[in-house]
Amino acid sequence: MNQVVKRLQPFTETIFATMTARAVAHRAINLGQGFPDSDGPSSMLDTAVAQIRAGSNQYGPGRGESRLREAIARQRSRRYGIDYDPASEVLVTVGATEAITATVLGLVEPGSEVILLEPYYDAYAAAIALADAVRIPVPLKTSGNSWAPDIAAIRSAITEKTSMIILNSPHNPTGSVFGAADLAELAEVVVEHDLLLLSDEVYEYLTFDASTHTAMAMLPGMRERTVTVSSAAKTFNATGWKTGWALAPAPLLDAVLKAKQFMSYVGATPFQAAVAHALDAEESWVTEMVSGLQRERDLLREVLLEVGFEVAASQGTYFLIADISPLGYEDGVEFCLQLPEKAGVAAIPVQVFTDYPELWQTKVRFAFCKQPATMAEAAKRLREALGS
Ligand code: PMP
Ligand code: GLN
Repeated sequence: MNQVVKRLQPFTETIFATMTARAVAHRAINLGQGFPDSDGPSSMLDTAVAQIRAGSNQYGPGRGESRLREAIARQRSRRYGIDYDPASEVLVTVGATEAITATVLGLVEPGSEVILLEPYYDAYAAAIALADAVRIPVPLKTSGNSWAPDIAAIRSAITEKTSMIILNSPHNPTGSVFGAADLAELAEVVVEHDLLLLSDEVYEYLTFDASTHTAMAMLPGMRERTVTVSSAAKTFNATGWKTGWALAPAPLLDAVLKAKQFMSYVGATPFQAAVAHALDAEESWVTEMVSGLQRERDLLREVLLEVGFEVAASQGTYFLIADISPLGYEDGVEFCLQLPEKAGVAAIPVQVFTDYPELWQTKVRFAFCKQPATMAEAAKRLREALGS
C-alpha cells in the first residue's frame, strides 16, 4: 500500500540526492548537485565559531536575529536601492527553500494557479503541491545561445485563478540571466493582473561578463507585490548553513511568517551573526569568488565543446547546459545515470525540472562551482571518457 499522501505521490527522491549518491558510489567528481568545495570568507567562519563559543546556541527570535535582519536590509538598500524595514519586512528562514515553501503556503489558496517558468527548480513544484495549488508551467524560449521568459506565453497562461508567478534569475538550471527589458515586461504583466511574484534571487551575486542582476522589487509597482528570496548558500559558499531570507511588505511577510513559524520556528542561531558579518564586510570576497567561478565556467565550456557537446551560454549561477545529441545520446536521464561510472563525473538531466520533457530531453546541467584542481581533474576525466 502506498502510504504517501496523494499530493506528494508524484514526487520521487530529489534528483540531487540520486545523482550525489551515484557520484559517491563511483567516486565521481560531483558536477551534479550545485555546492562549492571550498569555504566562505574566513572572517565569517571565525564569527560562527566565536558565536558558538560565546553561548549563542539557543532559540533566537522568530523573525531571525535582528543583527542579520538589519544586515539584509542594508544589503538590499546598498545594492539595489530598495529599502526594507528590518523589524517588519525581513524574515530569516532555513535556507531559501523554507522561504519558498512558506511563501507559497502562506499566500496561495488551495486550487489557485501558480505560473512557473520551466525548467524550474524542483522545490517550487513541491511547495505548490503541499499548498494544494496548481502549477502552470510555461517553457522558457530560446534566445540566442541561451533562454529567456516567453512573455506572450506567460500572458496567455494567466487565468482568473492565477495567484502567483515564481521567477528565478539568474536561472537554475540554465545559467541564463534574464534581460532587463524582459523582466520589465514581466513586471508589467504581474501588475496588470494584480498577481504576486516570488522572486528567487539566490544567485543574485553570481553573474558573469556584462550580465547584471535585476532585483524585481525595484521595478515600478513591484515592491508591494513581490516576495524576494535569497540565501547565504551561494553568495558565501555556505550551502550547509541553510541560512536564507525573505523580504516583502509587512502584510505579505506576515503571511510567510505564519507558515514558517510552524515549519521550523527558527533557524540555527550562531550562523546568523556570521552571515550578517559577511553581508556587511565581505562583498569583495564575493567579487573574487565570482571571478574564479567565471574562469571555471570558461574551462568547463571549453572541455565540453572539445569533446563534442553543444554548449549553451551561461551568464550566471553555478551551471551550464550541454546538449548531448552531437555525441549520439538521446536521453539526458540515461546519460546522467551512466556518466559517474563511465567518466567519473556526475551531471544532472534537465528534463526532470519540466512538465514538457521532450523539449529538454537531450540537455544536461554541469556545475562549475569547484576548485581549479577539481575542475581540471573533471576536465581530464571527461576528455578521456568522451573525447575521440
Ligand atoms: N532556489 C534555487 C534556484 C536554488 O538553486 C537553490 C539551491 N541553492 C535554492 C533555491 C535553495 O537554497 P537554500 O540552499 O538556501 O535552501
Ligand atoms: N540548488 C542546488 C542545485 O540546484 C541543490 C540543492 C539541493 O540539493 N536541493 O544543484
